[in-house]
Amino acid sequence: MEIQGLQKMTLLDYPGKVACTVFLGGCDLRCPFCHNGELVEGEAPAALNDGELTAFLKKRQGLLDGVCVTGGEPLLRPELEGLLSQIKSLGFPVKLDTNGSHPDRLRRLTEAGLVDYVAMDIKNSPERYGETAGRSGLDLAPFRESVSFLLSGAVDYEFRTTVVRELHDGDSFRAIGPWLAGARRYYLQSFVDRDTVLRAGLHPWDRESLEAFAGLVRPWMERVQLRGV
Ligand code: SF4
Repeated sequence: MEIQGLQKMTLLDYPGKVACTVFLGGCDLRCPFCHNGELVEGEAPAALNDGELTAFLKKRQGLLDGVCVTGGEPLLRPELEGLLSQIKSLGFPVKLDTNGSHPDRLRRLTEAGLVDYVAMDIKNSPERYGETAGRSGLDLAPFRESVSFLLSGAVDYEFRTTVVRELHDGDSFRAIGPWLAGARRYYLQSFVDRDTVLRAGLHPWDRESLEAFAGLVRPWMERVQLRGV
């Protein structure tokens, strides 16, 4: 299996763990604020294959506490199940990042015991979801199903939103709160501009506004935090 990138160590991606991050190319959304243009368009060359990843992980047994699998959208890759089985057989807990577009696959991999922690993006309020995901007319049913599955508590999870001045305002969070009612963890991540962002001209909100948005969702969830600000 072709793997488009490997970050050999991260303290930020898997809460409470020293982990590495595996990047898989291809995505079914086109979020204007996405940093991973090459990965999303499927143009990123393979950085390594699954055999090389296994060799790397064998050397890191006892040094890393977990493996993050991210994209793009990892659930689009048919070989994902085999890759996760390989990682799990080496004894590493797996964190899977997903945009929630494939609840059936998310459920299957979780029920097979191949995923220990899921981080699902919540792009915006249902009203502005398609706009924020770069897909006008997007059918929200699969995303709602992924949210319901995670809220059921079948696997440990977090929801997170990358907050962009041009895409989010108070109404976004007034709608997200009740939608995710009862969620264990919700993170608001400030947008960071870079040369590789899909659409130029986007801006972050200031810290005070992010705190105010967090205040709007806090009554609905167990833990709400800002991340990366
Ligand atoms: S932000 Fe995530 S879901 Fe959106 S286009 Fe980028 S990789 Fe895909």
